This record gives sequence, C-alpha cells and structure tokens, in this order.
Amino acid sequence: MKRLLSLENLTLLSIVLAILTGLYLPELSQKLKPLGDVFLRLLKMIIVPLVFVSVFGAILGLESISRFKKLGVRTFLYYLTTTAMAVTTGLLLVLIFQPGKGENPRPLSPHEVPEPISLGQVIMGIIPENPIKALAEGKVLQVIFFAILLGLAFLTVERFKQELVKNITDGFSDALVRLTRWVVLLTPVGVFALVSYLVARFGIDIILSLWEYVLVVVLGLLIHALVNLPLVALLFGRYNPYRYMLDVREALLIAFSTASSAATLPVSMELARTKGKVRKEVAGFVLPLGATINMDGTALYEAVAAVFIANVYGIELTPEKLITIFLTVTLASIGAAAIPGAGLVLLALVLSSAGIPLEGIGLIVAVDRFLDMLRTAVNVWGDLNGARILNKLLK
Ligand code: ASP
Repeated sequence: MKRLLSLENLTLLSIVLAILTGLYLPELSQKLKPLGDVFLRLLKMIIVPLVFVSVFGAILGLESISRFKKLGVRTFLYYLTTTAMAVTTGLLLVLIFQPGKGENPRPLSPHEVPEPISLGQVIMGIIPENPIKALAEGKVLQVIFFAILLGLAFLTVERFKQELVKNITDGFSDALVRLTRWVVLLTPVGVFALVSYLVARFGIDIILSLWEYVLVVVLGLLIHALVNLPLVALLFGRYNPYRYMLDVREALLIAFSTASSAATLPVSMELARTKGKVRKEVAGFVLPLGATINMDGTALYEAVAAVFIANVYGIELTPEKLITIFLTVTLASIGAAAIPGAGLVLLALVLSSAGIPLEGIGLIVAVDRFLDMLRTAVNVWGDLNGARILNKLLK
C-alpha cells in the first residue's frame, strides 16, 4: 500500500485528476492557481543558491584543473552529440510528414515583426558584469560561468584554505538538498494546481486544431526520449535506461508540470545522486550546466516549428537553409533560458537566420505551452542521462 501511495504515483495521479478538473471544473482550477504558484516559488527559491553552491563545490571536488578539463570536454561532447541527434530526428520527421504544406500558401501580412535576439547578445549574456547582480537577477548561465572560474581559481590557493571553503560549501549543499526534499513533499498538490489551471485556460481544442504539427513534435520527442537517449545510455553508460527512467520519474513529472528545467533542477540533482548513484562532483557540474544549456527537446521542437512555418508560408527550404536551421537551432537551444516559453522566444533567432517570416510564431503560440511541458521533460531526461553517463566515463 505504501509503495502504491509513493510520491511518484501520487504525482502521476494528480496529473490525471488535474486534466479532468481542468476540463470539467474550470472555475475551480482557476481558483486553485495560487497553490501551484506557491510550489513553483518554493522550487525557484532554491535554484540560484543551489546552482552556485553545486557548481562551485563540484569544481572544488574535482580537485585538479586537469580533471575539470576531462569532465568539461566530455560533458560538452555529450551535450552536442545528443542535441545533434535530437535536431536530426526532428528534421527528418518534419521533412517526411511535411505538416503545413498546403496548396495555398498563407500570404505574409505587412505589419512589423519583433526584433530577433542576435547571436552576439546570446554569447555576451554568459559573462556577468557583476556576479552579485547575476545572482540577484537569477541569470543562471552567468552564475555558472562565475562559479566555474572562481572554483578553478580556488584550486590554485593553499590547501588548508581550499579545505575550509570546501567544507562550508558541502554544508550548504547538504542543507539545500534537505530543503529540496521538504519542497518535494508538496509535489502532488503543486502539480495538480499547475496542470489543471493550464488545461482550464488553454483547453484541448486548440491542440487539435494544429494536430499535424503537434503530432510531429510529440513523435520526435518520444523517439528521442525512448530510442536515441536510451541507445546512448546503453552504449556509454551501460545501465538500463528504462529502469532509470522509472527511478527518476518524479523529476520528469515535475519538468512536465512546471515547463521549467531550472525549477526541476533541485529534484533532478537529488534523484541523480540517490537513484542514479551519480557522484556529487559530477552531478553538481553536469546537471546545473545541463539544465541551462542542454535542451534536446527544445532543439527538436524548434527544428520542426521552423520547417512547419516555412511550409505554411510556402517557402522553399534549400539544403543551405536546412543547414542554417540545424546550426541555429543547436545554438538557440543552448541560449534558451530554462524557464517556460524560452524556446519560443529563441525560435525568432532561428527563423530570422533562415529567412522565414517571424510572424509565423503567431501560428504556433496557442499550442506552445503544451509542447513546452513535453519538451522540458525531454530536456531534463537528457540531463539526467548525461549525469549518469559522465559519472561512468569519469571513473
Ligand atoms: N521550458 C524549457 C525548459 O525549461 C525551455 C523551452 O522553452 O524550450 O527546459
């Protein structure tokens, strides 16, 4: 009975109940929204201190710059390879099924389109002008950048000072894990409120109206989560990926409900360590970085969305354009923040570099939240596998 009523099962049940409540009792769902907001806020409260302490602590735990290089290079290779697999899957599917390709291409409307974010802005966004400001504003990538450099610098100071700081950092890290456990107890309630509110607000009809596009994205995400990533896990991690998926399902459900990799980070850190037996210094480096820059689901979705929009406007996609989409989608998934809807904003960068009208974003906005939930779960799943595989590779 106790097993049946585990937190994971309760969370799953609450998602099902939430969908029903959202559909049939929309007023109640609207009223319950504050409960979801409380849960989300509690998770967010942990993110910034956790990211700083884990990344900084991880670098200290690696004990030498050469071990950092080893882990760093492998982590990036893993991220790039799996993201490329995701984009390729998305592009192949969308080119096979060609959603949005009709006889009458939609004419472009003359109104102005928003300025896309430039590549330079994305890159400069990594270096903090002031680390305290980056912490205060929750600029996670900047926090990571500073934590890595500061950690590396600490590896060069006297041993006893290093030990002192390491012990303090460890203390904070353990306390943050405990805090996460407390917040996680609220998951079934929080998830219920979040999901039922979304269903009540957006409804299911809207998803049906764009079914071809939605189907290709969902199919791609499923293939990536259930075939591509497990294959990499089996080859390089030598563990049963489906068993692991069940073990960490709480993180995937939270990712689905919150549509935020960052909000899920405290939970994925805990599960990678307890269920995946990932060492602290590996989890502390790979997961915060992964939550921020490794977004397989987002990359896949952006590739499909770009081709779908091009199809709707009757734009010919030359091989050069497809290569541009491939490259910019990869970059955009790195630059997207780990919060709801970030992928949609960065899609503007992809569209403008491939010469696809930005106003096309308006076509897919309605179903974006739903797809965001799914792609975020895939993003987090990619990170969790990365942590376990790199844990093995670094032994
Ligand atoms: N919501 C996604 C995440 O947090 C990013 C996106 O919008 O694709 O991982």
